[in-house]
Amino acid sequence: MADGMETESRKLLRRLREEMASEAAGQERLDRITHLIADSMRCEVCSIYLFRDEETLELCATEGLSPESVHQTRMRLGEGLVGRVAKFGKVVNAADAPSEKGFRYMPETGEERFSSFLGVPVQRLGQKLGVLVVQSRDERSFSADEVYALEVVAMVLAEMAELGAFVGEGAALSPLHQQSRLLRGGPAQEGSAEGHVWLHEPRVVITNPIAEDPHRERDRLHEAVEELRVGVDKMLEISRGGDTEQLQVLEAYRMFANSKGWMRRMEEDIARGLSAEAAVEKEQSQARARMSQVTDPYLRERLADLDDLSNRLLRILTGQGSANGTDLPPDPILVARNIGPGDLLEYGRSLKGVVLEEGSVGSHATIVARALAIPLVVHVSRITTEALNGDQILLDGDEGLVHLRPEDTVVTAFRDKMAMQAEAQKRYASIRETPTVTKDGERINLVMNAGLMADLPSLKNSGAEGVGLFRTELQFLVRNQMPKRSELVTQYQRVMDAADGKRVVFRTLDIGSDKVLPYMKHVAEPNPALGWRAIRVGLDKRGVMRMQLQALLRAANGRPLTIMFPFVAQAEEYREARWEVNKTVERERRLGHVLPEELEIGAMLETPSLAFAPQKFFDEVDFISIGGNDLKQFFFAADRENELVRRRYDTLNVSFLGLIERIVERCGISDTPLSFCGEDAGRPIEALCLAAMGIRTLSMRPASVGPVKSLLLRSDLQEIRKIITDARHRGEQSVRPALMNWLREQV
Ligand code: PEP
Ligand code: MG
Repeated sequence: MADGMETESRKLLRRLREEMASEAAGQERLDRITHLIADSMRCEVCSIYLFRDEETLELCATEGLSPESVHQTRMRLGEGLVGRVAKFGKVVNAADAPSEKGFRYMPETGEERFSSFLGVPVQRLGQKLGVLVVQSRDERSFSADEVYALEVVAMVLAEMAELGAFVGEGAALSPLHQQSRLLRGGPAQEGSAEGHVWLHEPRVVITNPIAEDPHRERDRLHEAVEELRVGVDKMLEISRGGDTEQLQVLEAYRMFANSKGWMRRMEEDIARGLSAEAAVEKEQSQARARMSQVTDPYLRERLADLDDLSNRLLRILTGQGSANGTDLPPDPILVARNIGPGDLLEYGRSLKGVVLEEGSVGSHATIVARALAIPLVVHVSRITTEALNGDQILLDGDEGLVHLRPEDTVVTAFRDKMAMQAEAQKRYASIRETPTVTKDGERINLVMNAGLMADLPSLKNSGAEGVGLFRTELQFLVRNQMPKRSELVTQYQRVMDAADGKRVVFRTLDIGSDKVLPYMKHVAEPNPALGWRAIRVGLDKRGVMRMQLQALLRAANGRPLTIMFPFVAQAEEYREARWEVNKTVERERRLGHVLPEELEIGAMLETPSLAFAPQKFFDEVDFISIGGNDLKQFFFAADRENELVRRRYDTLNVSFLGLIERIVERCGISDTPLSFCGEDAGRPIEALCLAAMGIRTLSMRPASVGPVKSLLLRSDLQEIRKIITDARHRGEQSVRPALMNWLREQV
């Protein structure tokens, strides 16, 4: 880096700092800053564009363009060169801007006179704030040094914006973190909640982006990095011999902490006048911008590691701890980029809701949120940069909507909706003890899905008649090491005790696919959902399967026991598993343990192949439960985790109903009890349709029992069956419209 350039850059930052400290109003400050930058970069033009809403940039200050165009010239994200810088978060450096692809001529600015263009994004930790542009008359390409210098200035502008230095009139100059925002994400656990933001990892506030003494800043950075390295080495020491995945993450941390490139870039930023913490944050911002564009999961993870490491470094530099520094509000809604199942369990039911920037509908955290019945919205982009601790927040887990700092009218409408939901809950409570008998006298058995001890109280509150699916893998997933058999015995015993004689269907370990045990060797597979999972793992790892079977037999201690094997794709798998159960029973008998008075062994039908198994299989199996979540994804070849296709195909599609019909018939021939335990069983219209198709046991989330029962009590299954048959005869793709028509006539 040229020395002259370095001093020039530092001089400019010093002047910016003086601006920051001045008493000026936002607009005046912006005007002066554009003047300073143009002067320092020896350019005729310097302009600052800021976002007035998510899609629109507004020219907020300029030196060199027509003053009349300020607050008048606007462009959409992606429009023109400025819009391009904003959209992709990347520098545009063009010697002959008007001939550049995408150039848009803005007559009101008078910019046709300027040839060269350099635009850099103004962004802070992934939050896009605007674009900083310099232009000059002569046709020249800006040097790498000049680009770098402008990026450093943009970084300072972002920090100034965050600190409220540009607040003024109009939408583009309105203060950050004060406007109300409606953010959309994906619903992961239903329910509504009103509360206040609790950031799982509070943002570090940098009050001194510019520093006077680069030597001192460099020393501070070195000391902090050294402390960070020692910390990472210590963590590595502790983790040796333990969990390999955690070790890998720590090794990546160590690699970054020792990375010369990372250090060099931060030192260069400091040399140009940034403080040590601003230099760290500049690198972090750029890593976040890259993260939003990288699709390779491995690279994304490494960038996320770098992000985490930067946070640690910032905490060391600023002395701001990882604790929030405030007390958990009485109505906390947790906001995080992501959260592990263990952390979420620790917060437990104290949370009113959870909003995640990443996450997924099948992640472990989602499973825990469901078990705790905490409304959850995932994939809410920008939530961690938009929300501040203590902000008012409304969360609609049914629609996947988040209202941050909502207007009063929104709050009122939201509260009305919540009141209506509470009213409905009261109605459901009044039918809790009523047996589910349809108008034409069919008795439907409504049971619930569970996976944690925390679920069990719902057995009483919801009116469920038993547990139709107990997902045993959750207790394996939320731990750091394989549970011991004795621990499992205790857990299963507690579950059976809490069920108090009601039937509990224990599903054996369903791992693989999206459920990866942190302590088991992870085999990378190209298509994990179609890979080594569930019973396939069980049959290959007999030791684990046997341990679980023993634990279940011992926990039952003479009581009736129901075991179900997941993901059976062909009869032989079920037979082998059943053989393993029989062998375990024999062994337990020899060891003198009391055996269950009754033992049922069922299979989950989650792949279309099993519906076409020889009839003999249906004779052999004690019962079948349709795992609709998986069955549907394989039937339609549509990944249940993929937002783009997840909702594309309707469960009430006549083809899918054709498959259900076949399963019902085949179970009917062998008199095999049949249930349905996918999420669809808990959706009233779907549940009604499944009942009308002949399924007599539906297993669902506890909160769904009331709504499903309420509809079934009012329905005549013969009538519904006729509606379905007619719709199929008419050649309709889905029977939903016909059923919805019927439902509308009921009210
Ligand atoms: C299913 O696939 O429908 C099911 C109940 O199992 P899981 O959701 O645990 O895969
Ligand atoms: Mg499944």
